[in-house]
Amino acid sequence: MAKKWVYLFGELDEAEAYVGGDWEDILDLFGGKGANLAEMERIGIPVPPGFTVTTEACNAYLSSGGQFPEGMWDEILDALKTVENLTGKTFSDPKNPLLVSCRSGAKFSMPGMMDTVLNIGLSDETAAGMVELTGDERFVYDAYRRLIQMFGSVVAGVADDAFEEILEAERHDAGVSSDSDLDAEAWKRVTQRFKTTYRRQSHHNFPTKPLDQLRMATEAVFKSWNGKRAVDYRNAAGITHDLGTAVNIVTMVFGNMGEDSATGVAMTRDGSTGEKQIEGDYLTNAQGEDVVAGIRLTKDIVLMKDEFPEAYSEFETIAENLETHYREMQDVEFTIEKGKLWMLQTRDGKRTAQAAVRIAVEMADEGLISRQEAVQRVAPEQVDFFLHPQFSRKSVKTAKETGGFLANGLNVSPGAACGVVALDADLAESWAKEEGKDVIMVRPETKPDDVHGMLASKGILTSRGGRTSHAALVARQFGKPAVVGVSDMEIDMGKRQIIVKNQTLREGDWVSIDGTAGEVFSGQLETQIPDIKDRWLMKLLEWADEFRQLGVWTNADYPEDAQRAREYGAEGIGLCRTEHMFFEPDRLPHVQKMTMADLPIERQESLRVLLPFQREDFMGLFRVMDGLPVIIRLIDPPLHEFLPNHADLLRELGDLKIRLQHAATVADIDAIMKEVRTKELILNRVESLHEANPMLGLRGVRLGIHIPELTVMQVRAIFEAACIVGKEGVRVHPEVMIPLTSHVNELKRQRQVLEQEARKVMTEQNTEIEYKFGTMIEIPRAALTADQIAEYAEFFSFGTNDLTQTTFGISRDDAEAGFLIEYLENEILPSNPFATIDRDGVGELMHTALTKGRSVKPDLECGICGEHGGDPDSIQICHQLGLNYVSCSPFRVPIARLAAAQASLADMTAG
Ligand code: ADP
Ligand code: MG
Ligand code: MG
Repeated sequence: MAKKWVYLFGELDEAEAYVGGDWEDILDLFGGKGANLAEMERIGIPVPPGFTVTTEACNAYLSSGGQFPEGMWDEILDALKTVENLTGKTFSDPKNPLLVSCRSGAKFSMPGMMDTVLNIGLSDETAAGMVELTGDERFVYDAYRRLIQMFGSVVAGVADDAFEEILEAERHDAGVSSDSDLDAEAWKRVTQRFKTTYRRQSHHNFPTKPLDQLRMATEAVFKSWNGKRAVDYRNAAGITHDLGTAVNIVTMVFGNMGEDSATGVAMTRDGSTGEKQIEGDYLTNAQGEDVVAGIRLTKDIVLMKDEFPEAYSEFETIAENLETHYREMQDVEFTIEKGKLWMLQTRDGKRTAQAAVRIAVEMADEGLISRQEAVQRVAPEQVDFFLHPQFSRKSVKTAKETGGFLANGLNVSPGAACGVVALDADLAESWAKEEGKDVIMVRPETKPDDVHGMLASKGILTSRGGRTSHAALVARQFGKPAVVGVSDMEIDMGKRQIIVKNQTLREGDWVSIDGTAGEVFSGQLETQIPDIKDRWLMKLLEWADEFRQLGVWTNADYPEDAQRAREYGAEGIGLCRTEHMFFEPDRLPHVQKMTMADLPIERQESLRVLLPFQREDFMGLFRVMDGLPVIIRLIDPPLHEFLPNHADLLRELGDLKIRLQHAATVADIDAIMKEVRTKELILNRVESLHEANPMLGLRGVRLGIHIPELTVMQVRAIFEAACIVGKEGVRVHPEVMIPLTSHVNELKRQRQVLEQEARKVMTEQNTEIEYKFGTMIEIPRAALTADQIAEYAEFFSFGTNDLTQTTFGISRDDAEAGFLIEYLENEILPSNPFATIDRDGVGELMHTALTKGRSVKPDLECGICGEHGGDPDSIQICHQLGLNYVSCSPFRVPIARLAAAQASLADMTAG
């Protein structure tokens, strides 16, 4: 098929034949706006006649250094002829002039980045002709001055302010506050003055020949693709630069031809709640951009029902048809010209996460899409929305109506936050820590030395940077809401203030940021936590459960957490960290005593005190998890973690010695001396436990082997608890897990101790408990020798936090606070391996462990309990590896259910 640069809206079939029939390719060729205009025309929706100049033409123009590709202009003239025939009007003909708009439109919408010129074709001659024709001088000159204004700013780079000043003066002279109150004479004057301004600022006359206008506007849209704002936007949004923009030439229809005309925008469903109800705004007697520009107060679309009953009912039908056709909620632009409705644009509507969920579920219920599609349409991150504070809809609406909305930026870390502006990290930290203020740290961009301020802040706001900027990465890592790359924001460090558009905020003023939507507001907006038990979300997750193969378990140490996780749909506990229980204030002294003990006998004494505490904890967990598996991990961290910090001890000893010098009585001296001796003992122990590299030191199974009494106590607590609640009728399924195994012999040893003690307890209690014994796989050696290990384990649980550390040989704390950010910024690593499983390294070790383990025990239960278990990308890897379940924090259980379903649905469609 011969290459064409220009396609009429009616020539979609031809374009499809050219690209090979794929809609994605049509989007590439026509851009979103053009493709959908053509598609609307094809399905019989009223669209003003027009045509699209392809993105290929744009790219050819740009790569030739600014030459229209051969034949393009002739094709435009041909297409224009056809449009003239269709409309019965003629371009440049004063007797019945055709006017068109020239609209940019790339594959992805790039809000505010590229431009549109309306009313092309007006000149002094055609304007006069139109006055004849319409008898409406006011309308014609209003349209004419708009052309000069838009053409001036889009094509000739005339600053809009210059035009606004003239309008302002004109309104002032006429004593009116709104443009709509200016009369024909005023618009005629404005038109002349605009032309003068145009000439002064661009050093050219405003082009009087309509074809010149069309050519120049087309060229300007092509060029706008490489404009700085567009390039910055694409860099930030991760859109490639080689797509190019299409140009759509569309016959003008006029919403400003009197009281029987109007223009508006609408969504086929409510974009905030998702309710199936048309939502929109319109203006009577106005032209397109007035609605969005906010110059006049718009009317709610429900009013259109009374004002334009026929057009409204047609509009309702069209909305329905569009939804049926696109099987998606649509966002449309329309104009009513003398009672006749025209559609000017349609695209998939933007929506809040809440609306996304409701729309997906209701569309499936309506039979518009399948349940699979509904499950696939909601991003797991959108489920996250239900867990973070958000601004209430009311407060956002009020802010937007009262000028509180400042700017848009990139939504890089979800959640809403309010705080006072602090312009540097030290101030942010001191305000937050010393004065207890809520702070939003505002910077041009952030650097590693800003991290302390970021941590102390409620949220982060930057004027530069993209999705992988330092600010974005750190914010996500620490769960701080963040908006970055707010290019409309200027930071004046000299005056300690920020300027956004025309508003100034001083340091210390309140600002509110929405990291979910990427919006910035002045003042303090009201926040609220959305309901995770949202009716539609619950339904969507139930559907997800039908599709997923992975089980979803939870990491929970306390009964309350386990309870919450069960409510969210957890099917087991994949990790209970017993050491958390040791840090409780009433237990820590005994844990410390145990740590301090030199003799096994003293140690046992403390352990005996701890036993009932642990038993209680486990009983609570078993009760909550009635009928479900509970994996309990024996103690993991190095012992020194339970003792006071070395530096603190030294300082305290110093203080005591000073007090000693000032002690007044012998009794005081004795008391202080006693304290000194205790502290010295502890200090000695801390020093003797000191390890050069505690992460690789005496911890995990090594500790259990070193202090077998500890294992015995924990096992006893587990089995006593199981027996006791078992007798209450609770169905208990304990699974005992050994951490940090690297050699099978470690497991063998521990297993012996465990089995012996378990048997003892069961005999004492006269109850049989079915249990499993297994290990974490978090050391590469364990993964590599998993066949040997599987001989002594009934389950594996991948501890991917440690496995990542030991595979990369990097310590997480040091990495994430330091060089890792640099690695990510420079793309040395594609993503943070502590957030998403490193497929090639860690993933490969997991694969090896699974294969080897299951070669020995085909039904070996395998899961993951590292933080990756709640990360959608990692969940997909787990699904592909064939794990039995993922285990994650209670709050991430709903996200994991959805991600697991999506992983298996992706599998089904791929296979
Ligand atoms: P954007 O992508 O910024 O929305 P558009 O190309 O959609 O820019 O146009 C800006 C405004 O002008 C919209 O309100 C649109 O409906 C209106 N508009 C564009 N073309 C026409 C036309 N031919 N007739 C009437 N209004 C139009
Ligand atoms: Mg538009
Ligand atoms: Mg570990």
